[in-house]
Amino acid sequence: MARPRTLFVTTALPYANGAFHVGHIMEYIQADIWVRFQRMRGNTVHFVGADDAHGAPIMIAAEKAGCTPQEFVAGIAGNRKTYFDGFHIAFDHWHSTDSPENVELSQGIYLALKGAGLIDRREIEQFYDPVKGMFLADRYIKGKCPKCGAPDQYGDSCEVCGAVYAPTDLIEPFSALSGATPELRRSEHFFFRLSDPRCVAFLREWTRSNGRHGGPRLQPEVLAKAREWLGGEDPQGRLADWDISRDAPYFGIEIPGEPGKYFYVWLDAPIGYLASLKAYCGRADIDFDALMNDDTVEQVHFIGKDIIYFHVLFWPAMLHFAGRKTPDQVNVHGFITASGEKMSKSRGTGISPLRYLELGLNPDWLRYYIAAKLNSHVEDVDFNPDDFVARVNSDLVGKLVNIASRCSNFLVRRFGGRLGEPDPQAIAGFAAAWAGPEAVARLYEQRDYGKAIREIMQYADAINQYVDTARPWDVAKDPAAGEALQRICSTAINGFRDLVLLLAPVMPATTGRALEQLSLTLPGWSAIGTPLPAGHVIGPYAHLMTRIDGKAVDRLLGIAEDAPAPAAGGQGGGKAAGSDAATRKDKDKAAVPGEGFVGIEDFAKLDLRIARIVSAARVEGSKKLLQLSLDIGEERPRQVFSGIQSAYAPEDIVGRLTVMIANLAPRKMKFGISEGMVLSAGHEDPERGTGIYLLSADSGAEPGMRIG
Ligand SMILES: [Zn+2]
Repeated sequence: MARPRTLFVTTALPYANGAFHVGHIMEYIQADIWVRFQRMRGNTVHFVGADDAHGAPIMIAAEKAGCTPQEFVAGIAGNRKTYFDGFHIAFDHWHSTDSPENVELSQGIYLALKGAGLIDRREIEQFYDPVKGMFLADRYIKGKCPKCGAPDQYGDSCEVCGAVYAPTDLIEPFSALSGATPELRRSEHFFFRLSDPRCVAFLREWTRSNGRHGGPRLQPEVLAKAREWLGGEDPQGRLADWDISRDAPYFGIEIPGEPGKYFYVWLDAPIGYLASLKAYCGRADIDFDALMNDDTVEQVHFIGKDIIYFHVLFWPAMLHFAGRKTPDQVNVHGFITASGEKMSKSRGTGISPLRYLELGLNPDWLRYYIAAKLNSHVEDVDFNPDDFVARVNSDLVGKLVNIASRCSNFLVRRFGGRLGEPDPQAIAGFAAAWAGPEAVARLYEQRDYGKAIREIMQYADAINQYVDTARPWDVAKDPAAGEALQRICSTAINGFRDLVLLLAPVMPATTGRALEQLSLTLPGWSAIGTPLPAGHVIGPYAHLMTRIDGKAVDRLLGIAEDAPAPAAGGQGGGKAAGSDAATRKDKDKAAVPGEGFVGIEDFAKLDLRIARIVSAARVEGSKKLLQLSLDIGEERPRQVFSGIQSAYAPEDIVGRLTVMIANLAPRKMKFGISEGMVLSAGHEDPERGTGIYLLSADSGAEPGMRIG
């Protein structure tokens, strides 16, 4: 086992002028999986992020919103936690670039670069908006790309061809703020001398060299791009110096000793990585300087392909010439697309992560799907709704959960939950079916999550085939075959435990619940493949995950109209509302929250009433249903068909008080209209009994009383 590593991991800083989109969430999931994996390997990880708070866009947005930039940013930052909690993204700390730590670090790095002779001051001509009375930030100047001619490109770089240029290079420029044709005015600016031969030499070496982990710092395609920018073998290099200052009015960090001059937001944004770590260290009682001066500590950034230039040229050069640690890995991912199209809110093809959570879709589904599509290359990830549904239902419900749901409860009912010895022949067969835990670890390490998941699913297939062949449900019928039953189920459950551990970085919530049922806490990676000792006692299987309902995905994509608030259970065949609401059989209705929460306003949408059962009768032609007539204080009783015939004789329940959902849309059934639903509890697993238990009200309650 290698020496434990200490890693400082970041994701790109989101600009604090809007809510997260699914591209952010994909990056955070990618990094979070990697971090959780590293921790299972016994490594120490400090995982931090921050809002990128400065710059003209936020200043202008705040002005429009009628508040200070600080207030504006605080409003955006206040919503971040919903997403992190919702998608189980476990940053150790979330910070802001508008923070004392960042002011100190940015000014310190600037002064070090100035001391190294890498800062120039030059008078430049810059676009000025005569209508707004201010110099225009790059992104407020638009025009045609000087390289490829693409229209409507921002003043600093082209989204079409990736070219980086000065705003004055744009063809037919205009102010995006006022539409005015900008005027060129003179102003003194500060430059980081990226063209300095020391910078070029350093970057040529750095981009090609390995990080502290012994692997390349850059992916091959990123290295190729960097080489191109660095001008190949051209001794002069081709890097342009970088304008790092902006004139007041500007929301940013003042340049020390230069009143009225501010750092361009892109200078202090990456320094925000360090600022967040520093703030975290303060909170966690870690010596920040000692940590960053420790030569074994690895610095790892996860970023999107649109910001490579900043992260593989400016950022390492700034750090190096300020005497600081440089990144060991810059891990670049592509964009997320929807059915092949680039996601864009304006085009209406986006998936809103907030909507995903609001619809009660299980966050582990998205984490799994994204992981299954990710590899180590800078490739776009396509969210295809049909593929999403098929993959989650087939892999997670059909393969993973299926093993536990078929085998756990035999052990619980027949052997008090005690595991026996697994079948060594079967274990050997499993080992031959997939590449093994160390190979999967290498794939996680390289961020080849898709390949890792393929291996894990091959293991799952082997275990399922074993269960299919061994048929524990048949073996269980023979009272003399106890030992064989225990062996079969123990073999399968050991395999299931391995799968849960292998998927723990991807699906923290689901695997957490599965481990709880197995009476285990999350062990290290090395536990994978070693069977649990005979005698270990597992708990009963409880529902782990529902299938995805395609209609819920339609609603996510805005294809379908919103359904009424999803009620737990279908009409007529009443199942539990309340206690584990995810337990239900009829999967044809609205999605069941996997484990998301609902707000009180969602609960309030349900009109729950005390109902008296006025009459009850069997339904001709149905073995399941009783036809109930329910008094809820209305003029005439409601008719409800309820699937409780197996548990209740009609004459026994007449006169009883129960609970009904009074505002469930009426549903036409074969036997008539059902005008609501009575609530009952029952086991989701028929192996545990088929009892159905009607809810009842305490004495004194009256028909029609509202429940809430
Ligand atoms: Zn272009």
